[in-house]
Amino acid sequence: MGSLQLPEHIKEITEHETFKFNCHPGVPCFTDCCRQLELALTPYDVVRLSRALHIPTKQFLEEYAVIEWEEGDFFPRVYLGMKDDGRVSCPFVEGKGCTVYSGRPGACRVYPLGRGAFKQDDGSYDAIHVVLREPHCHGFSEPDTQTVAKWTEGQELHTYNSMNDAMLTILQHPDTGRKKPTIEQRALFLDTLYDQDSFRACGKVEDSDQLSDEEFILVAINWLRVQLFGFFKF
Ligand code: SF4
Ligand code: SF4
Repeated sequence: MGSLQLPEHIKEITEHETFKFNCHPGVPCFTDCCRQLELALTPYDVVRLSRALHIPTKQFLEEYAVIEWEEGDFFPRVYLGMKDDGRVSCPFVEGKGCTVYSGRPGACRVYPLGRGAFKQDDGSYDAIHVVLREPHCHGFSEPDTQTVAKWTEGQELHTYNSMNDAMLTILQHPDTGRKKPTIEQRALFLDTLYDQDSFRACGKVEDSDQLSDEEFILVAINWLRVQLFGFFKF
Protein backbone atom coordinates (compact mmCIF):
# COMPACT_ATOMS: atom_id res chain seq x y z
CA MET A 1 0.00 0.00 0.00
CA GLY A 2 1.48 3.41 -1.00
CA SER A 3 1.88 6.25 1.49
CA LEU A 4 -1.15 8.48 1.99
CA GLN A 5 -1.42 12.16 1.03
CA LEU A 6 -2.52 13.66 4.35
CA PRO A 7 -2.97 17.18 5.72
CA GLU A 8 0.01 18.44 7.74
CA HIS A 9 -1.53 17.80 11.17
CA ILE A 10 -2.32 14.18 10.35
CA LYS A 11 0.55 11.72 10.23
CA GLU A 12 0.49 8.04 9.46
CA ILE A 13 2.00 5.98 12.28
CA THR A 14 3.37 2.47 12.21
CA GLU A 15 2.84 -0.16 14.86
CA HIS A 16 6.14 0.44 16.67
CA GLU A 17 6.45 4.24 16.37
CA THR A 18 5.97 6.24 19.55
CA PHE A 19 4.28 9.57 20.22
CA LYS A 20 3.89 11.73 23.33
CA PHE A 21 0.31 12.10 24.51
CA ASN A 22 -2.04 11.82 27.44
CA CYS A 23 -5.44 13.19 28.36
CA HIS A 24 -6.54 13.60 31.97
CA PRO A 25 -8.41 16.10 34.17
CA GLY A 26 -5.19 18.09 34.67
CA VAL A 27 -4.81 19.24 31.05
CA PRO A 28 -5.87 22.88 30.48
CA CYS A 29 -8.18 21.91 27.62
CA PHE A 30 -9.98 19.19 29.61
CA THR A 31 -13.44 18.50 28.06
CA ASP A 32 -13.01 21.27 25.42
CA CYS A 33 -13.12 18.62 22.70
CA CYS A 34 -16.49 17.29 23.96
CA ARG A 35 -18.28 20.13 22.14
CA GLN A 36 -19.26 21.05 18.60
CA LEU A 37 -18.89 17.47 17.51
CA GLU A 38 -20.33 15.61 14.58
CA LEU A 39 -20.14 12.35 16.48
CA ALA A 40 -21.31 9.41 14.38
CA LEU A 41 -22.42 6.45 16.47
CA THR A 42 -21.96 2.80 15.58
CA PRO A 43 -24.41 0.12 16.74
CA TYR A 44 -21.90 -0.94 19.39
CA ASP A 45 -21.59 2.65 20.62
CA VAL A 46 -25.37 2.76 21.09
CA VAL A 47 -25.38 -0.48 23.07
CA ARG A 48 -22.52 0.60 25.33
CA LEU A 49 -23.98 4.07 25.92
CA SER A 50 -27.39 2.56 26.69
CA ARG A 51 -25.81 0.18 29.19
CA ALA A 52 -23.88 3.03 30.85
CA LEU A 53 -27.11 5.02 31.14
CA HIS A 54 -29.17 1.96 32.21
CA ILE A 55 -31.80 2.57 29.53
CA PRO A 56 -33.01 0.43 26.59
CA THR A 57 -31.49 1.13 23.18
CA LYS A 58 -34.88 2.36 21.90
CA GLN A 59 -35.00 5.03 24.60
CA PHE A 60 -31.42 6.02 23.88
CA LEU A 61 -32.21 6.49 20.18
CA GLU A 62 -35.32 8.53 20.99
CA GLU A 63 -33.61 10.78 23.53
CA TYR A 64 -30.05 11.19 22.28
CA ALA A 65 -29.71 10.24 18.62
CA VAL A 66 -30.10 12.25 15.43
CA ILE A 67 -30.79 10.03 12.44
CA GLU A 68 -30.05 11.32 8.95
CA TRP A 69 -30.30 9.84 5.51
CA GLU A 70 -29.05 11.64 2.43
CA GLU A 71 -29.80 10.88 -1.19
CA GLY A 72 -26.83 8.91 -2.46
CA ASP A 73 -26.20 7.17 0.87
CA PHE A 74 -27.29 3.57 1.12
CA PHE A 75 -27.67 3.51 4.88
CA PRO A 76 -28.91 6.12 7.35
CA ARG A 77 -26.33 7.69 9.69
CA VAL A 78 -26.82 7.96 13.43
CA TYR A 79 -25.25 10.87 15.31
CA LEU A 80 -25.13 11.85 18.96
CA GLY A 81 -27.32 14.94 19.36
CA MET A 82 -25.47 17.88 20.94
CA LYS A 83 -27.02 20.11 23.62
CA ASP A 84 -28.44 23.56 22.90
CA ASP A 85 -26.42 25.15 25.70
CA GLY A 86 -24.64 27.87 23.75
CA ARG A 87 -21.52 25.69 23.46
CA VAL A 88 -23.04 22.80 21.48
CA SER A 89 -21.89 20.40 24.18
CA CYS A 90 -22.11 16.66 24.25
CA PRO A 91 -25.10 15.72 26.46
CA PHE A 92 -22.76 13.70 28.68
CA VAL A 93 -20.04 16.22 29.46
CA GLU A 94 -19.80 17.87 32.86
CA GLY A 95 -17.07 19.90 34.51
CA LYS A 96 -15.62 16.77 36.07
CA GLY A 97 -15.49 14.98 32.73
CA CYS A 98 -17.46 12.36 30.85
CA THR A 99 -20.45 11.02 32.80
CA VAL A 100 -20.70 7.92 30.58
CA TYR A 101 -16.99 7.15 30.64
CA SER A 102 -17.40 3.35 30.85
CA GLY A 103 -19.61 3.44 27.74
CA ARG A 104 -18.12 6.38 25.84
CA PRO A 105 -18.17 5.95 22.06
CA GLY A 106 -15.28 4.49 20.10
CA ALA A 107 -14.59 7.89 18.50
CA CYS A 108 -13.97 9.40 21.97
CA ARG A 109 -11.63 6.55 22.84
CA VAL A 110 -9.56 6.48 19.68
CA TYR A 111 -8.51 10.18 19.59
CA PRO A 112 -5.70 11.24 19.01
CA LEU A 113 -5.46 8.26 16.72
CA GLY A 114 -7.52 7.62 13.62
CA ARG A 115 -8.00 4.09 12.31
CA GLY A 116 -8.83 3.07 8.75
CA ALA A 117 -9.69 -0.60 8.24
CA PHE A 118 -9.45 -2.31 4.87
CA LYS A 119 -10.08 -5.77 3.52
CA GLN A 120 -7.10 -7.91 2.52
CA ASP A 121 -6.94 -10.39 -0.37
CA ASP A 122 -7.55 -13.31 2.01
CA GLY A 123 -10.78 -11.66 3.26
CA SER A 124 -9.42 -10.63 6.67
CA TYR A 125 -9.20 -7.01 7.79
CA ASP A 126 -6.12 -4.93 8.46
CA ALA A 127 -5.89 -1.30 9.51
CA ILE A 128 -3.68 1.74 9.20
CA HIS A 129 -3.42 4.36 11.92
CA VAL A 130 -2.77 8.08 11.90
CA VAL A 131 -2.07 10.60 14.66
CA LEU A 132 -4.23 13.74 14.51
CA ARG A 133 -2.45 16.73 16.06
CA GLU A 134 -5.31 19.13 16.65
CA PRO A 135 -3.76 22.53 17.49
CA HIS A 136 -6.06 23.10 20.50
CA CYS A 137 -5.19 19.77 22.11
CA HIS A 138 -2.67 20.08 24.95
CA GLY A 139 -2.45 16.31 25.30
CA PHE A 140 0.60 16.33 23.03
CA SER A 141 2.54 18.35 25.63
CA GLU A 142 2.17 15.57 28.19
CA PRO A 143 5.28 13.46 28.81
CA ASP A 144 3.67 10.03 28.45
CA THR A 145 4.93 7.87 25.61
CA GLN A 146 2.32 6.02 23.58
CA THR A 147 2.21 3.50 20.77
CA VAL A 148 -0.81 2.44 18.75
CA ALA A 149 -0.90 -0.85 20.69
CA LYS A 150 -0.63 0.85 24.09
CA TRP A 151 -3.33 3.41 23.32
CA THR A 152 -5.62 0.77 21.82
CA GLU A 153 -5.20 -1.42 24.89
CA GLY A 154 -5.62 1.41 27.39
CA GLN A 155 -8.81 2.65 25.74
CA GLU A 156 -10.23 -0.90 25.43
CA LEU A 157 -10.59 -0.40 21.70
CA HIS A 158 -10.09 -4.00 20.56
CA THR A 159 -13.76 -4.87 20.93
CA TYR A 160 -14.88 -1.61 19.26
CA ASN A 161 -12.51 -2.29 16.38
CA SER A 162 -13.73 -5.85 15.82
CA MET A 163 -17.38 -4.71 15.89
CA ASN A 164 -16.59 -1.95 13.39
CA ASP A 165 -14.74 -4.35 11.10
CA ALA A 166 -17.75 -6.69 11.13
CA MET A 167 -19.95 -3.73 10.19
CA LEU A 168 -17.85 -3.20 7.05
CA THR A 169 -19.27 -6.44 5.62
CA ILE A 170 -22.54 -4.50 5.37
CA LEU A 171 -21.40 -0.90 4.93
CA GLN A 172 -18.92 -1.79 2.17
CA HIS A 173 -20.94 -4.56 0.58
CA PRO A 174 -20.61 -4.33 -3.23
CA ASP A 175 -24.40 -4.04 -3.61
CA THR A 176 -24.40 -0.72 -1.74
CA GLY A 177 -22.62 0.80 -4.72
CA ARG A 178 -25.00 -0.45 -7.37
CA LYS A 179 -28.45 -0.45 -5.79
CA LYS A 180 -30.72 2.07 -4.11
CA PRO A 181 -32.10 1.08 -0.74
CA THR A 182 -35.82 0.91 -0.15
CA ILE A 183 -37.40 2.72 2.79
CA GLU A 184 -38.02 -0.71 4.34
CA GLN A 185 -34.33 -1.65 4.02
CA ARG A 186 -33.26 1.57 5.69
CA ALA A 187 -35.70 0.97 8.54
CA LEU A 188 -34.52 -2.63 8.89
CA PHE A 189 -30.91 -1.43 9.18
CA LEU A 190 -31.82 0.82 12.11
CA ASP A 191 -34.18 -1.67 13.77
CA THR A 192 -31.74 -4.56 13.54
CA LEU A 193 -28.42 -2.93 14.32
CA TYR A 194 -29.19 0.18 16.35
CA ASP A 195 -32.23 -0.83 18.43
CA GLN A 196 -30.48 -4.01 19.60
CA ASP A 197 -32.70 -4.57 22.64
CA SER A 198 -35.92 -4.58 20.60
CA PHE A 199 -34.36 -6.79 17.94
CA ARG A 200 -33.19 -9.20 20.60
CA ALA A 201 -36.69 -9.29 22.10
CA CYS A 202 -38.48 -9.87 18.78
CA GLY A 203 -37.39 -13.53 18.68
CA LYS A 204 -35.92 -13.62 15.17
CA VAL A 205 -32.63 -14.88 16.59
CA GLU A 206 -32.91 -18.14 18.52
CA ASP A 207 -31.51 -18.31 22.06
CA SER A 208 -30.59 -14.63 21.90
CA ASP A 209 -30.81 -14.38 25.69
CA GLN A 210 -27.74 -16.64 25.87
CA LEU A 211 -25.59 -14.18 23.94
CA SER A 212 -23.50 -11.27 25.21
CA ASP A 213 -24.03 -7.86 23.61
CA GLU A 214 -20.90 -8.38 21.53
CA GLU A 215 -21.99 -11.82 20.33
CA PHE A 216 -25.49 -10.61 19.58
CA ILE A 217 -24.29 -7.69 17.43
CA LEU A 218 -22.24 -10.08 15.28
CA VAL A 219 -25.28 -12.34 14.86
CA ALA A 220 -27.45 -9.32 14.03
CA ILE A 221 -24.93 -8.11 11.42
CA ASN A 222 -24.91 -11.52 9.71
CA TRP A 223 -28.71 -11.78 9.90
CA LEU A 224 -29.15 -8.34 8.35
CA ARG A 225 -26.57 -8.95 5.61
CA VAL A 226 -28.54 -11.99 4.45
CA GLN A 227 -31.83 -10.05 4.55
CA LEU A 228 -30.39 -7.17 2.53
CA PHE A 229 -28.02 -8.88 0.15
CA GLY A 230 -28.79 -12.62 0.24
CA PHE A 231 -26.12 -15.27 0.71
CA PHE A 232 -23.59 -13.54 -1.55
CA LYS A 233 -20.18 -14.22 -0.03
CA PHE A 234 -18.46 -10.97 0.92
S1 SF4 B 1 -19.29 10.81 25.29
FE1 SF4 B 1 -17.95 11.52 26.92
S2 SF4 B 1 -15.90 11.61 26.01
FE2 SF4 B 1 -17.38 11.51 24.32
S3 SF4 B 1 -17.80 13.62 23.74
FE3 SF4 B 1 -19.35 13.04 25.25
S4 SF4 B 1 -18.52 13.65 27.24
FE4 SF4 B 1 -16.83 13.65 25.78
S1 SF4 C 1 -8.31 18.49 23.61
FE1 SF4 C 1 -6.90 16.73 23.81
S2 SF4 C 1 -5.99 16.82 25.87
FE2 SF4 C 1 -7.73 18.25 25.79
S3 SF4 C 1 -9.41 17.06 26.65
FE3 SF4 C 1 -9.50 16.78 24.43
S4 SF4 C 1 -8.25 14.95 23.95
FE4 SF4 C 1 -7.81 15.60 26.08
